[in-house]
Amino acid sequence: MQIAEVIVDIPTRQTNNPYSYSIPENLSDQIQPGMRVQVPFGPRKVTGFVVGITDHSEFNGQLKNLSSLVDLSPVVTPELLALSHWMAARTFSFEINCLQTMLPGGMRTKFRKKLLANDSVRDAYPQIFHGENEVDYDRQHFDSRTIALILKLRRADKIQVHYELAHHSKPLLMKAYTNQLSAKALQAAISGVSKRAIAQRRLLLMLHEQPTKAFLRTELAQVGVGRPVIKTALEKGWVKQTNVRRNRNPFFQPVKKSLPLDLNDDQRVAVKTIDQAIEQQTDTTFLVEGVTGSGKTEVYLQAMAHALKIGKTALMLVPEITLTPQIVGRIRSRFGDQVAMLHSAMSNGERYDEWQRISYGQAKVVVGVRSAIFAPLKNIGLIIMDEEHDGSYKQTDDPRYQTRDVAKWRAAYNHCPVVLGSATPSLESRARAMKGVYHLITLPHRFNNHALPHVTVVDMKREIAHNHSILSKELATLIADRLAKKEQIILMLNRRGYSSFIMCRDCGYVPQCPNCDISLTMHKDTQTLNCHYCGHREPIPTVCPKCHSKRIRHYGVGSQQLEEQVKEQFPNARVLRMDVDTTRKKGSHEAIINQFGAHKADILLGTQMIAKGLDFPDVTLVGVLNADSSLQFPDFRSSERTFELLTQVSGRSGRADKTGEVIVQTFNPDHYAIQLAKTQDYEKFYQTEMRVRHLGKYPPYYYTIKITGNSPSEKQTAYEMHQIAKYLRNHLTDAAIVLGPTPKTIKRIDNRYYYQIIIKYRKEPALTQSLDTILTNYQSKQRHDFYIAIDNEPLDFM
Ligand code: ADP
Ligand code: ZN
Ligand code: ZN
Repeated sequence: MQIAEVIVDIPTRQTNNPYSYSIPENLSDQIQPGMRVQVPFGPRKVTGFVVGITDHSEFNGQLKNLSSLVDLSPVVTPELLALSHWMAARTFSFEINCLQTMLPGGMRTKFRKKLLANDSVRDAYPQIFHGENEVDYDRQHFDSRTIALILKLRRADKIQVHYELAHHSKPLLMKAYTNQLSAKALQAAISGVSKRAIAQRRLLLMLHEQPTKAFLRTELAQVGVGRPVIKTALEKGWVKQTNVRRNRNPFFQPVKKSLPLDLNDDQRVAVKTIDQAIEQQTDTTFLVEGVTGSGKTEVYLQAMAHALKIGKTALMLVPEITLTPQIVGRIRSRFGDQVAMLHSAMSNGERYDEWQRISYGQAKVVVGVRSAIFAPLKNIGLIIMDEEHDGSYKQTDDPRYQTRDVAKWRAAYNHCPVVLGSATPSLESRARAMKGVYHLITLPHRFNNHALPHVTVVDMKREIAHNHSILSKELATLIADRLAKKEQIILMLNRRGYSSFIMCRDCGYVPQCPNCDISLTMHKDTQTLNCHYCGHREPIPTVCPKCHSKRIRHYGVGSQQLEEQVKEQFPNARVLRMDVDTTRKKGSHEAIINQFGAHKADILLGTQMIAKGLDFPDVTLVGVLNADSSLQFPDFRSSERTFELLTQVSGRSGRADKTGEVIVQTFNPDHYAIQLAKTQDYEKFYQTEMRVRHLGKYPPYYYTIKITGNSPSEKQTAYEMHQIAKYLRNHLTDAAIVLGPTPKTIKRIDNRYYYQIIIKYRKEPALTQSLDTILTNYQSKQRHDFYIAIDNEPLDFM
């Protein structure tokens, strides 16, 4: 007898181990690891992933049969099955969540449930089946008595539930028309139709010219061959109707083919070193540290081309917001239709189609964001992570994986190198490179020795005394100068909305979110006060709810207000704004970039979305309006983030022949992160920041774990978290530092109270065991609405 080992879709610690089911005869030759199946689990049936097939089990003979197959072929490769196992342990997550995370959104969404019965059952229960054998279980609103009946019938196996893929995960089939006639018959038909039947003649001529092509109805309609003509052609047997599969194409525009560029010396050394590792199949991790504009992307492209040349595939990851048409265009122009793209702005259907192309081996190059690290690529020859320091590579929900770790795991599995690239590497990666764990490759110069932009730091403490605009005098003067020269300008203000808060001038009242411990942000376009944490919205008050004063003012400029001020001060400038609010609609992000790229606007302003990856040759001025916004976070990484952001955004200036300028406005002009960003001195920043981290016992000197607990009651959250901290202090050695519990920076979000514990350690043998125990214990407490989450190597301590 064959036995399937199944990870069932019930997220608990127990189900991290597979359950065994015997495989019915009729399924035994179809079933394979990596397929999803339906299995009985207690009184219910649930889905699960087959992770292995064996022929023995200690429970042999007592095993239940698995019920049915969900997939006709595996949806998870053997590699990804092994990865999910490793990842569950690494992230303290459930294996089922890891498996689900690997599938594209469309496949992960719930299947449509249908109830299936034979004729006699159908006739006996008209209240369920209404004369059909199959009814939708979700859409029907059965009353509770009928549901009880359904459950009873299901238990008695009188009706089955089967699952149907949601619509978008089916291939998009289109009707097409293909030639049915021999060449001779076609000639005869052409001479047979009357001269006046123009559309008929046109169709026959098209069949004659392209005898093997399948014509889509839309294509025919465009040349005047409408439905009646098609009907006639079908009746006369000229054409046959078939279905063709059409991929939903996520690429908006066709691109021209481009050839590899001649490399400069630094680039050549970089490419050669990486190529060697590809050929020797070593899983070396390279850190390519190159200033902005040093030509890293060309290095990636040529190394990827090498992987393809020796018959392998390549995976390139980019941060969430830099996956712009610019970078995708560069990759597609080199590799054409071999490229598949995986991006969160794509529809489920598009993503599913791309995923299929990858899994069938049609796409050999994958470019995508964080989740693309799970692309079902086989035979990987190279993995690239551009802007490796970027925060979007860390998933902040369960499973809380760091993409770098997953990339290294897949590289080891595939015997291929990983390339981490950045102008400002994370301290973790740079420290590993210094220790020789990673291989450091540097590109110290901008391509063609274009000068790095000239950065001026403006002290806003002085500025504010005589100038009430958010634009300093220096910045305003330079904007006017660039507008006159018809050059372009980027302005960054890392705060969306109109103003950060409103306040009553008489009593000091600041409207707060009713659900969260945070003040509401004013949005002028919607005339509302919004909470950026829970989504709460309310109208902007005209009188103070506390003292009835009408003197309500707004404070702190957001991107909407910046746009207003800039338009006021420079009425002739064409201004584009890019932030979360202007890029909600699909394709709007691209539209803004394309418009600015085509120089149809003079000023692009927005939040940090505009800081990265964009390459506009006409931009010669970048203004950072509030460099302090990222410094103010009470977090050990705030200096690193500020340095990164300033360096990245400065790198947008002067990328072509004209030297760029950057104005950084700040209230902390002497802060080392700002001073060193001014000279783009990564080396010095690294040295300085490493000392700070060493003193504070922070990463990369220490490993860290964050445990967050939340419940609707502050008392309960605090109590449970104290118990956890006590347990940890009792079970870990003195070498581990347990901090907390403390309330999180924003203690209440959506009416739940959050506390956290931080563990710092260098080596702690008892750690995994202790955390596993805590997880297992607290799972049973979840009925009291207390939840914990463990974040291994969190991005922040907030
Ligand atoms: P990075 O990714 O390091 O910021 P890019 O790869 O975008 O840098 O390169 C910066 C600019 O230099 C781009 O406009 C790019 O087309 C150009 N460039 C890079 N390498 C070459 C090369 N070998 N030959 C010609 N132009 C190059
Ligand atoms: Zn008031
Ligand atoms: Zn809120």
